[in-house]
Amino acid sequence: MRIVMIGAGYVGLVSAACFAEFGIEVVCVDKDRHRIEALRAGRMPIFEPGLEDLVKRHVASGRLGFTFNLKSALQGAMAAFIAVGTPSRRGDGHADLSHVFAAAGEIATALSHPLLVVTKSTVPVGTGRRLAAFFAETRPDLKIEVAANPEFLREGAAIEDFMRPDRIVCGIDGSGAQALLEALYRPLAQAGTPLLFTGRETAELIKYAANSYLATKITFINEMADLCEATGADIEVVAKGMGLDGRIGGRFLKPGPGYGGSCFPKDVQALLHTAREQSVPLRIVEAVEAANAARKLKMVSRIVAACDGKVRGKRIGVLGVTFKSGTDDVRDSPSLVVLPALQELGAKLCVFDPAGMEEARKRLPGLTWAQNAYETAQDATALVILTEWEAFGSLDLDQLKTLMHTPVIIDLRNVLSPAAARARGFAYHSIGRPKAR
Ligand code: NAD
Repeated sequence: MRIVMIGAGYVGLVSAACFAEFGIEVVCVDKDRHRIEALRAGRMPIFEPGLEDLVKRHVASGRLGFTFNLKSALQGAMAAFIAVGTPSRRGDGHADLSHVFAAAGEIATALSHPLLVVTKSTVPVGTGRRLAAFFAETRPDLKIEVAANPEFLREGAAIEDFMRPDRIVCGIDGSGAQALLEALYRPLAQAGTPLLFTGRETAELIKYAANSYLATKITFINEMADLCEATGADIEVVAKGMGLDGRIGGRFLKPGPGYGGSCFPKDVQALLHTAREQSVPLRIVEAVEAANAARKLKMVSRIVAACDGKVRGKRIGVLGVTFKSGTDDVRDSPSLVVLPALQELGAKLCVFDPAGMEEARKRLPGLTWAQNAYETAQDATALVILTEWEAFGSLDLDQLKTLMHTPVIIDLRNVLSPAAARARGFAYHSIGRPKAR
């Protein structure tokens, strides 16, 4: 069986390599020539644990190839997955579908046989129907079915998530699509993964509802952390106590500087846009979006307060720019709000991230970039931890203290032990944990 994956980004490249692992022949197409050339030369355009090995293995097995020529890729293919970006449209927060429709247009031009087109990109309710209408109009001579198969993988654990998902959601409008998708996902179904076949609109909405719910969970625990700070309760224990309830579950109950990344912010916005279009109020999701935006700014005030109310002219070390650990992705990361705001207030920032600096440099001008975590601490008035990279939790605190001008740590991810930091003489600020702990 042969398929085409359009888009060689976090979702497309991982999906392509994993389908090849299932024994399927996959041609991955991207319009970015540099990306394709890099992949052909064995260089990964993104950082994702385990990806390089998997890609190399299946390039060698002959089941995975890369091209910018869609027409040749489509030859003999039974399905084409669209895994291109769907960022927020400027101005109104709606999902920008221009890449999806550009890919559809290219398929319509290049195709010469019947095909199943599958949206793996996150697309608003009704997109599948619009795509089907588009193909019916542009290629009435060919049977082109459209299915929605939203992806739920997480960056940083993408391969594991693709190979062992909680479920696979397929929105279909035709029996041919079901048989083909069942065949493509057979290894997962045989391993016990539930395959949920639904209508297209339902599948499209499942993705937005799931992401908005997870964003809600994060925002909820962040607000509980604020209440812990005001009352002397401990958010880590509150979250544990809540999470042990099987109806709630412990995941996504980690307080921090606000959710970010390439999915939650834009998907929450797009869902709200859909709801407004349909005149259906989503008050909870509205509140989540507003609370999360306010939270990022609140982190700035917290840092300023820890620096005695003034950061102008002070050197501040920053650990982490990616929106979470395990990825090089900085899209919509809290760092993109917090760091420019600190710069605006006159702080001199020295920043280190184990994977995200190359991307971050393009988006965060005027910063000093360090070679390692300790370099950021040199003469610093304070050290801010913005991303929960594991290595930041095991830094040598004594060494940091010797390097710093003033021993102040603002740990916005609760990666350090308050007792250990305080025992070494740090003024230590974290999220939702009692001052004395
Ligand atoms: P990305 O930006 O990493 O990759 C998209 C790729 O598509 C780019 O390489 C781009 O050059 C390519 N592309 C765009 N238009 C093209 C075209 N017409 N032909 C060929 N290639 C084209 O994006 P991503 O993070 O992989 O996200 C893709 C989709 O998956 C989005 O809708 C996103 O919401 C969704 N998603 C992302 C994640 C994630 O963790 N990143 C998880 C689940 C779902």
